[in-house]
Amino acid sequence: MQTFSFSRLWHQAWSLILVEMDSREASWLLRPKNHLSLLETRRIAIIISRVRLIAGLFAVLTPLWIALDIWAFPREIWEGLAIARVLATLAFVAIMLRPHRSNTLFDAYRTLTLLLAVPTAFFLFTYLHMARFQLHGLAEAFSVGYAYLPFVMLAGLSIFPLTMAESVAFAAPMLLAQICAGILRLPVLDWPSWIASFWLLLLIAAVSALAGLSQLAFMIVLVREAIRDTMTGCFSRHSGEEVLELQFSISARTNTPLAVAFIDIDHFKAVNDTYGHEVGDEVIRQISGAMQSHTRDSDMLIRWGGEEFLLMLPNTSQSDACIALNRLHQSGFGQRPDGSPLTASIGVAERIASGAADWPTLVERADSRMYQAKQGGRNRIVSDDQTSSCNPS
Ligand code: GH3
Ligand code: MG
Ligand code: MG
Repeated sequence: MQTFSFSRLWHQAWSLILVEMDSREASWLLRPKNHLSLLETRRIAIIISRVRLIAGLFAVLTPLWIALDIWAFPREIWEGLAIARVLATLAFVAIMLRPHRSNTLFDAYRTLTLLLAVPTAFFLFTYLHMARFQLHGLAEAFSVGYAYLPFVMLAGLSIFPLTMAESVAFAAPMLLAQICAGILRLPVLDWPSWIASFWLLLLIAAVSALAGLSQLAFMIVLVREAIRDTMTGCFSRHSGEEVLELQFSISARTNTPLAVAFIDIDHFKAVNDTYGHEVGDEVIRQISGAMQSHTRDSDMLIRWGGEEFLLMLPNTSQSDACIALNRLHQSGFGQRPDGSPLTASIGVAERIASGAADWPTLVERADSRMYQAKQGGRNRIVSDDQTSSCNPS
């Protein structure tokens, strides 16, 4: 009975976090693997901008505290603390102003690590520095405040949309710093209070990780809603263009192929004219479903407009794209309401083969080939590939 209620509680807690998420999206919460590029770029931007915000805040607060140190501590203590505070302030200013050229996930990790490294080093220094003195009265009461620094840092992690693995990786050095601080004071360590404070630190780390996860879950759902076309579930044109730009630059930088196919359904207007717009919408949903089930996970289907779709095939040569499109062409696009098969005219272009300098040119090539396919009698694929069988029999 107990296990049952516990498992139900556990299930309910997770379903609160995973609300409206499918299993692929839920796996994104665990580690930063296979994240949608649109999610990744937004996450990087958020992490970097929040690091800057916190660095700016600490750059102001850290030196202000020198006045209180002077008031509370004797000179031999506050002098060392003041030097450490000035150095920490300079480090925070440097983090805040640091230019970000690459904007990769690695860059975001590096910035966050730098942000956490400064207070960690400051905490270890103050701990060792103050351990050398016997403090009484006001000075003793004030020194307790310094011991709270790791708690503040761990709680601060909660403002970042981190995956579970990332939260563990970023919290671990601070927990280790606390253990190190304990070991350094081993002869005079008050064990029960140290264990109590470490337990509290662990709890704060867990709550921060959960806060980060729920932020990430919220982001995943928002990004999905924003980037999908509500009628078909395909990528919307706006987000498709963003990904095309990104994939085009990756393809150019790594000198790998990038193929796109412009797909326009043949004589679609007749469906609307004969059966009405509602039925037309249903047929469009059916077409996109048929196409999505015949493309790979790495391919991206974009609803370019009306009954026009753009299929983006990263790392795919023109002849391989033709093979994939032939497969799609043969599997079909579904049926018209009268039972006859729906057909499409498809234009294919590939970055290297077409020599396109940017993504709009590449799409434009595919679009003009789609028109050639229309003029050539519809229900066909046109590419400039002479070797592969881009034209189905
Ligand atoms: P073809 O492409 O073979 O030349 O002929 P077509 O009849 O498909 O012509 P075209 O591509 O120019 O017209 C597309 C039609 O698709 C026009 C419009 O009535 C219809 N359409 C566009 N968007 C939607 C939509 O969201 N829902 C519905 N039901 N129809 C749409
Ligand atoms: Mg059209
Ligand atoms: Mg059409």
